Amino acid sequence: MMETTQELIQELTKIAEAPGAAVLDAIKSTGKKAVGCFPIYAPEELVYAAGMLPVGMWGGNTKGNLAGKYLQIFCCSVMKANTEQALRGDYDGLSAVIITAYCDTLKCLMENWKAALPGMKILPMVYAQNRKTASGRQYMKEEFLRIGKELEKVGGTEITDQALKAALDIYDDYRSVMQKFIVKIRKYPAVFTPRVRHLLIKAAYFMDKKDYTEKIRQILSSLPAPEPLPASRHPIILTGLIGEPVEFLDLLQENDFSVVADDLAQESRQFRTIADRNLPPLDRMVERIALQDGCAFLYDEKKTRGAMLIDMVKQTEAQAVIYCQMKFCDPEEFDYPIVKKELAQAGIPMLYVELEQQMDSMEQLRTRIQTLAEILPTRGR
Ligand code: SF4
Repeated sequence: MMETTQELIQELTKIAEAPGAAVLDAIKSTGKKAVGCFPIYAPEELVYAAGMLPVGMWGGNTKGNLAGKYLQIFCCSVMKANTEQALRGDYDGLSAVIITAYCDTLKCLMENWKAALPGMKILPMVYAQNRKTASGRQYMKEEFLRIGKELEKVGGTEITDQALKAALDIYDDYRSVMQKFIVKIRKYPAVFTPRVRHLLIKAAYFMDKKDYTEKIRQILSSLPAPEPLPASRHPIILTGLIGEPVEFLDLLQENDFSVVADDLAQESRQFRTIADRNLPPLDRMVERIALQDGCAFLYDEKKTRGAMLIDMVKQTEAQAVIYCQMKFCDPEEFDYPIVKKELAQAGIPMLYVELEQQMDSMEQLRTRIQTLAEILPTRGR
């Protein structure tokens, strides 16, 4: 029997809210090993091609202070949460963890985890920042090859060119369906609230990408004709690492904001670039990262993020941009003054919010979001 739109949405949002259970179920039902993939661009395709299940590790709302023994107080909350969850055993089912380094926190964390979790197989990985040059491309190819060899040992399966191509096809199919998905759901703000939109995109990190893409396809084909948008809605764009905690997204909903597009590392940056499918598999992986611009975590000498956001605002008719600054995330902090100046020059309102995955109070945030809603005009007037 075909599932209804609501049933599909509930199924995926439930997975995103309780990923541990979903991953354990997937390990049990498929008999596959699972490999943790740290933010931001861990090479999930290699894990998939090695016959294992890639699992996204993007922290979460976690209580406790086991991580305090290994991490400084000024470490970002995503890494605090990942470490806390690992120390309390949430990731014991993982056969290895790929940690990619983009910032000082991640560089230290790779070493700290070796001490904190001696039983965990850690696969550290570094992306070339100068990723568009011939030497940068060559370096990345070698890095993918090295990680691939390590994953072969973990999974006990050789990663053939054929298997990698098949994995890349599945991932690129996911990327192209998601590109359509985020455009189409703009017309359904009552169904795809900021929280639901986020959870639906997040569920991809805890499922087989092929199964996930099929569910998203089903949602797309089951949507009824859109209703006219209420004039009170404020279309906005989110930029930053991640749009969490979900209570922040609920505040957006309470104040009549709809997320019409995003430039979040956890969301659109995962699927906005697709490399030429005719390239050899490893070159295809390298190319996808080389194509990624406007991301604080990959060197961008032209600093294209502001211009990209201005284009996005024009295309989507968004009224404002919210800069979701994960507290203590320095690569994002470096970009902020440049983006702020460029958006101000273009006359686009931008709200800077400092987020932590574990926030005790939302009151200050509530006031700032209410204020943004009040200064924005009602559409059509
Ligand atoms: S500081 Fe930023 S880039 Fe580094 S681990 Fe934390 S959230 Fe990720």
